[in-house]
Amino acid sequence: MGNIVAIVGRPNVGKSTLFNRLTERRDAIVDSTSGVTRDRHYGKAEWIGIEFSVIDTGGYTVNSDDIFEDEIKKQVELAIDEATTIVFLLDVTTGITDHDEAIAGFLRKSDKPIIVVANKVDTNDRILPASEFYSFGLGDVYCISSSNGGGTGDMLDALVATF
Ligand code: GDP
Ligand code: MG
Repeated sequence: MGNIVAIVGRPNVGKSTLFNRLTERRDAIVDSTSGVTRDRHYGKAEWIGIEFSVIDTGGYTVNSDDIFEDEIKKQVELAIDEATTIVFLLDVTTGITDHDEAIAGFLRKSDKPIIVVANKVDTNDRILPASEFYSFGLGDVYCISSSNGGGTGDMLDALVATF
């Protein structure tokens, strides 16, 4: 079956953008206004010769403004069941929200490896604000920009080390 990486996070943190970058495809459709993702949710990725599958969990969410805790729970539980490793994606431009806290709560109950990732760190001045994500107590925070690819190499090194 191979290693499976699930990208978990509330709507608009950049799950589909990261999925597209990791899989080097345009299969997951990014809608900048609503965070709606359609079509494929599974893709193949590779780093330093190690192949793995990626799940974009955002596809289960239809309306980003109307997400309920039950739905988050369902998504995260599914991801935890299926995945070898979970990428917990956060948005440095908004900081921690109630939905992020809810997801962190579910992830804390999991035995699977979790990589905490601060997305939208497009510039160096966003590295320091991203340190607030250490407060989840889920381990090191990797700063990336899914838009320009910054930081993704270090994140991928940590990711494949969990396999
Ligand atoms: P999802 O709902 O979690 O799948 O998020 P999307 O991938 O649809 O992205 C939501 C919005 O954030 C879109 O407008 C993206 O262009 C934007 N976005 C994603 N990654 C980055 C990033 O690294 N930097 C910036 N500035 N914007 C990003
Ligand atoms: Mg999406």
